[in-house]
Amino acid sequence: MLGPEMPLAEIEAWLREDDPARLSELWGAADETRRRFVGDEVHVRGLMEPSNHCVRSCTYCGLRAQNAAIPRYRLSTEHVLTAARQAHELGWGTLVMQTGEDYGLTREWVADLIRAIKRETPLAVTLSLGERPREDFAAWREAGADRYLLRFETSDPALYAHIHPPLSPCEPNRIERLRWLAELGYEAGGGVMIGIPGQSYEILARDIDLFRAMDLDMIGVGPYIANPDAPLGCEDALPDGEQVPADELMAYKVVALTRLVCPEANLPATTALATLDRAHGRMLGLQRGANVIMPNLTPARYREMYRIYPGKAGYAETAEATAGRLRGQLAEIGRRVGVGPGGRRQGQSEE
Ligand code: SAM
Ligand code: SF4
Repeated sequence: MLGPEMPLAEIEAWLREDDPARLSELWGAADETRRRFVGDEVHVRGLMEPSNHCVRSCTYCGLRAQNAAIPRYRLSTEHVLTAARQAHELGWGTLVMQTGEDYGLTREWVADLIRAIKRETPLAVTLSLGERPREDFAAWREAGADRYLLRFETSDPALYAHIHPPLSPCEPNRIERLRWLAELGYEAGGGVMIGIPGQSYEILARDIDLFRAMDLDMIGVGPYIANPDAPLGCEDALPDGEQVPADELMAYKVVALTRLVCPEANLPATTALATLDRAHGRMLGLQRGANVIMPNLTPARYREMYRIYPGKAGYAETAEATAGRLRGQLAEIGRRVGVGPGGRRQGQSEE
C-alpha cells in the first residue's frame, strides 16, 4: 500500500527494496503525492549560519565543543540582516538561521534580530539553534519566529544516547522539545540522519513511522557523512544486512517514504544528499518527494568553518547566480520557485 496508512513492516520492506522497477514505482508514487498535496512550487529558503560555536558533544558532528580543528566564529546582526535582504530581493520567502548550540547568542540578541528581520522584510523566519530552554523558544516565538528545526536524529533511545550525550542527566530529549515547539505555535520540523553506525532497518522504519505519528510540519532527512574530526566511527556499525547504508539510494528511499506517509509536510532536498550526489542530488530529491531547497547565504569565508562534515556541498557562486541557475533547473523538471513564505498547507490536496 503506497499511501499514508502504509504499515510499519511495509516501510521496512521498501527500505530493503533494491529492484529498479519496484523503486520506480516508489519514486512515481512519492512524486504524485507531492504534486497533489504541496503542488509544483519549490520553496527556496535562504540559509544563514551566524555561529559555529557549540556546547554539545554529538559524536557525529564537526561543530562539537571538543573539536579544535575548526576556527570558531560568530557573525553580527548586520551580517544576518544583509542575508535577509538578499533573500527577499531574490524572491525567496524564508530566512533559516542555523547554528551550533551557542549561548553566546543570548535570548535577547536573537529576539532583537528576529524583530529587525520582521521590520525590514516580509520573510518567514525559521530557527535551528539547538536545544535551548523553553523560555528562549517562547521569547523568540513572541518576537515573530515562525518555524523551528530540531531533528531528533533517531527514535531509538539507546542509539540516541550513544550519539547525543546529554548536557545534564535528566534533560528532555529532542522529541519532547518538538512537542513544546508545536505547543508554542511554531511550525515544527524534525528529522533524522540515514545510515548512522548502529542504525538498523527496523529503527529507520520506526523513525519514519514517528514522523507520521508526530504530524511534523517539516521533515529533514539526509545521509550521515562520516567526519574524521568526530568520534563516531564504523566500529559502531551493525553486521551486513542489518546496518542501514549511508548512501544516496537509501536517502532517496527515505525521502519518498516520508512524502507518502506525511503528504502535507515540507521536505527539503538536503545539503547532505547533494554532498553524496553532487550532479543530481538536489533535483532527484525534488523528483522523489521533496519540495524545498535551502541555498546557503552565509558569507563565503565562514562557510568552510561551518564544517559539520567534510566536503559539504554548496553553490560556489553568488546568490544571484544560484537563483538564476535554480530557476533554469526547476523549469527543466517542470517545477517553479514558490512565491511567499511557503508554510505548511493543510488539507489542500489538488485532486
Ligand atoms: N545545532 C543545531 C542542531 O543540532 O539541531 C543545528 C545545527 S546541526 C549541524 C544540524 C544538523 O546537521 C543536525 O541535526 C544533524 O542531523 C546534521 N549533521 C550533523 N553532523 C552530521 C554528519 N556528520 N552527517 C550528516 N548530517 C550531520
Ligand atoms: Fe552542536 Fe548541533 Fe552539531 Fe550537535 S549537531 S554538535 S548540537 S551543531
